[in-house]
Amino acid sequence: MNTAGFGKNDVVMVGIASDANSSFMRGAAKAPAAIRAALHSESSNMWSELGVDLGSHAGFVDMGDRQIGDEVEDFLAIEEHVGDITRQGALPLVLGGDHAITYPVMRAIHAAHGRVDVLHFDAHPDLYADFEGNPYSHASPFARIMEQGLVSRLVQVGIRTLNAHLREQAARFGVEMHEMRDVDLQAIGQDFDGPLFISLDMDALDPAHAPGVSHLEPGGLTTRQVLDVIQRLSCPIVGADIVELNPERDINGTTAMAAAKLVKEIAGKMLSGQL
Ligand code: MN
Ligand code: MN
Repeated sequence: MNTAGFGKNDVVMVGIASDANSSFMRGAAKAPAAIRAALHSESSNMWSELGVDLGSHAGFVDMGDRQIGDEVEDFLAIEEHVGDITRQGALPLVLGGDHAITYPVMRAIHAAHGRVDVLHFDAHPDLYADFEGNPYSHASPFARIMEQGLVSRLVQVGIRTLNAHLREQAARFGVEMHEMRDVDLQAIGQDFDGPLFISLDMDALDPAHAPGVSHLEPGGLTTRQVLDVIQRLSCPIVGADIVELNPERDINGTTAMAAAKLVKEIAGKMLSGQL
């Protein structure tokens, strides 16, 4: 890992400390520090299972955190923070923050790459037209993304909280939704051919694996299942975010360590794909 400059196709980790758009409880803004502490914990190492050592790889860069104020303009400026990475041809690995951040993040990705495919792990589809009057709610980022045509495909995995409105929104936007109750994980991601962005809400995982989230939704994915899907991908990955860890709800740092594991495997996959 280096902390100086970065260049084309480097994987650049940035924390976006933003939770003003959380509908139920705040705390996700504290996630980047918790994930970093877990990533650097002496209890483990920084090697991915795929054989990439993030601790020594010159193409893995940590540019630190951006503290985001509570005003809408502060939130929308996340696009610029991520643009600082994409404009140099580097690949952002964004640590949220709540899931609201994915809307400005995808605006930056779209500006750099055009319409890419999105693989979205979540208990929730995050497709509310608006939630309690907030169009930028963490329950709404994919409604904004789809309305603006920022992506070519939205493939959602792990969904288990649908209501009538959300089903209508998914149909309206042509979302490829794999509900948790009938998902075929072996098939997920095997038909991507273009550039891909991964958006990973930690509450996609079962609360047994990731208790440190604001919205506990039983009946979810195991950490291993998510890792398997990611490791089987064969398309180029142009960016990712890992969102919704709430350290105030965590138990023994379990969820932070799961998020750090996902950082290692996603960054390792992004870097190994360049070999
Ligand atoms: Mn979400
Ligand atoms: Mn969620």
